[in-house]
Amino acid sequence: MLPGIAVVGAGIAGLALAAALDRHGLPALVFEQAAEPAEVGAGVQLAPNATRLLHRLGLAERLGEIAVRPAATEFRRWADDHVIARTVLGEECERQYGAPYYTIHRADLRDALASLVRTERVYLGRRVVAVRETADGAVLSFADGSRHSACLVAGADGIRSVARQALAADEPVFSGLGVYRGLVPATEVPELAAEPAVRLWLGPGSHLVCYPVQAGRLVSFAATVPCPVPGTESWTAEGTARDLRHAFRNWSPTVRRIVDGAPSVRHWGLYDRGPLRRLSTSRVVLVGDAAHPMLPFAAQGANQAIEDAMALAACLARPGTGAVRARIPEAAGRYRECRGPRTARLQQQARWNIGGMHLPDGAAQRSRDVGLAASADLHRQAWLYGHDAEGECLP
Ligand code: FAD
Repeated sequence: MLPGIAVVGAGIAGLALAAALDRHGLPALVFEQAAEPAEVGAGVQLAPNATRLLHRLGLAERLGEIAVRPAATEFRRWADDHVIARTVLGEECERQYGAPYYTIHRADLRDALASLVRTERVYLGRRVVAVRETADGAVLSFADGSRHSACLVAGADGIRSVARQALAADEPVFSGLGVYRGLVPATEVPELAAEPAVRLWLGPGSHLVCYPVQAGRLVSFAATVPCPVPGTESWTAEGTARDLRHAFRNWSPTVRRIVDGAPSVRHWGLYDRGPLRRLSTSRVVLVGDAAHPMLPFAAQGANQAIEDAMALAACLARPGTGAVRARIPEAAGRYRECRGPRTARLQQQARWNIGGMHLPDGAAQRSRDVGLAASADLHRQAWLYGHDAEGECLP
């Protein structure tokens, strides 16, 4: 049998890619290091640039049942809940961009994507330790000493990607920030349940974002704080609820109710990497955080992973001479042309956003708040939410 396409990692990027390839009749094998599928207990925001692609994959009905459609995004002042700026989402988002804005539990998104991939194509407990490019493909080496040959390897193995080593010798960059994440029963914060929304409180040196997940039963929050020593980016590092409460002890009563209401929290340091010069060689392609890990301050890492998946599948599906393996170098080139500039822009924007978000009270903060209010119109997101990553790559 001729070697096929291999995907390293069964996270959001890897599963979305396997599903997108399958839709074009291009089956792939997925190799995941974890023995069991696992996701952190936290939410993720999905914007129309990704939800229109998820709907195309056939997930509209499922997402409609488990995800929440927030009515708006709000920026609030840290001390008193004053609303600085509000961007209407809900039906207006669907009217402008033809697809909804969702907030969803990460495990629900993962399960939805996994439902599109045949289980016999996902190999769990297979940790890749090296990816070596050959003249007409690439070879995966696993921790157990075994190997697998593929005509194309897609590295979807996250910020510590092994596949990325085939393209660059860089390392993750520590941001000096850490994040606590937790889930609060919606009954603990009834004032937030009345209208589902993404709410961000901006304060000196820190911010907190929260939104409903699991059809509104839970509120997911992420609290970003200074982190003087490099921490772990592990999804499972236990944080301490006491430290979190202390960090937000002077914030508004609503913020305090959120951080007090979490039965448990986890903490990890935030890392990213700089944009790569190229996202692929002719036989190794990177998708998701393996390609462009970004700080979470544009809420686009998972959205871009889904864009990557649909874009790469479309590039590989372009008609050409002969079998797909002959078209791979050209498809990989087209993929990096389409995806490189957009994902680099978002990596930079996520870094840049943090400068303004954590200002101390004063003139610069007041001027920021005026700017946020003036730029809250949903139309201003057209470059981001209106983009069709698949359409750009289809013939
Ligand atoms: P990962 O989720 O890291 O998955 C990689 C997979 O590869 C894992 O299953 C891992 O086990 C596997 N793997 C790793 N190494 C190997 C190996 N050597 N061999 C085999 N398998 C391997 N994004 C948004 O779009 N919206 C948001 O609201 C948002 N909020 C965020 C909030 C926080 C606090 C953080 C930290 C991130 C947030 N993100 C958000 C970013 C988003 O979570 C990531 O961009 C996304 O999870 C990346 O998915 P991935 O599949 O590329 O990588």
